[in-house]
Amino acid sequence: MSVAENLNQLKSEIGTDAILVAVSKTKPLELISEAYEAGQRDFGENKAQEMQEKAEKLPKDIQWHFIGHLQRNKVKYIIPHVHLIHSVDSIRLLEEIDKRATNANRTVQVLLQVYIAKEESKFGLDESELQEILKSVLYRNATHLKIVGLMGMATNTSNQETVAKEFQYLKELYDQLKPTYQFTTLSMGMSNDYQIALDCGSNMVRIGSKIFGERGLTN
Ligand SMILES: *Cc1c(COP(=O)(O)O)cnc(C)c1O
Repeated sequence: MSVAENLNQLKSEIGTDAILVAVSKTKPLELISEAYEAGQRDFGENKAQEMQEKAEKLPKDIQWHFIGHLQRNKVKYIIPHVHLIHSVDSIRLLEEIDKRATNANRTVQVLLQVYIAKEESKFGLDESELQEILKSVLYRNATHLKIVGLMGMATNTSNQETVAKEFQYLKELYDQLKPTYQFTTLSMGMSNDYQIALDCGSNMVRIGSKIFGERGLTN
């Protein structure tokens, strides 16, 4: 199946319930262009410099999503290009984003990444850290960023019940915070679990290998 066929298949499954972010990390410009030609405009990357290089070479109407762990010293590379940062997991990172966005005279939208998996390796905040950030003086005084929702990654397991429970938990948290903080975006679901995520109320899925094919083992 071609990239365009994969996209069409996914779009028919997802319908209008959710935004499809095509995760293009490690993939070459030609494949991204193929997806772009097929009408795709939202793309996800997880390395700051890789996003910067791709954004500079590809059409300007692409909406770039940063989905990986973001180090503070890399924020400057993505600020001119990024549409939505999915992976904010600390106040210090938020502070750097606001500072760089202010310098660039842009307002940047971000999601807070919540830890929902039973795996040590996944990044993210717990519920009390989440509250702490939302209520922080820093966020209240931030002028060039807006927290628009939550993101989470479920445990990498074939046990669908475990995955569903984790997504349900995140959806409940999202619904709880949504009215107070005017949330719009709940980013959950990848190639292996997007159907479960959609059933659980996701409105943004991040899908890579089902569109572009498998990546190498390390990323
Ligand atoms: C790589 C990645 C994805 C996409 O993974 P696939 O299994 O290829 O769909 C989604 N979200 C995050 C945070 C990722 O790092």
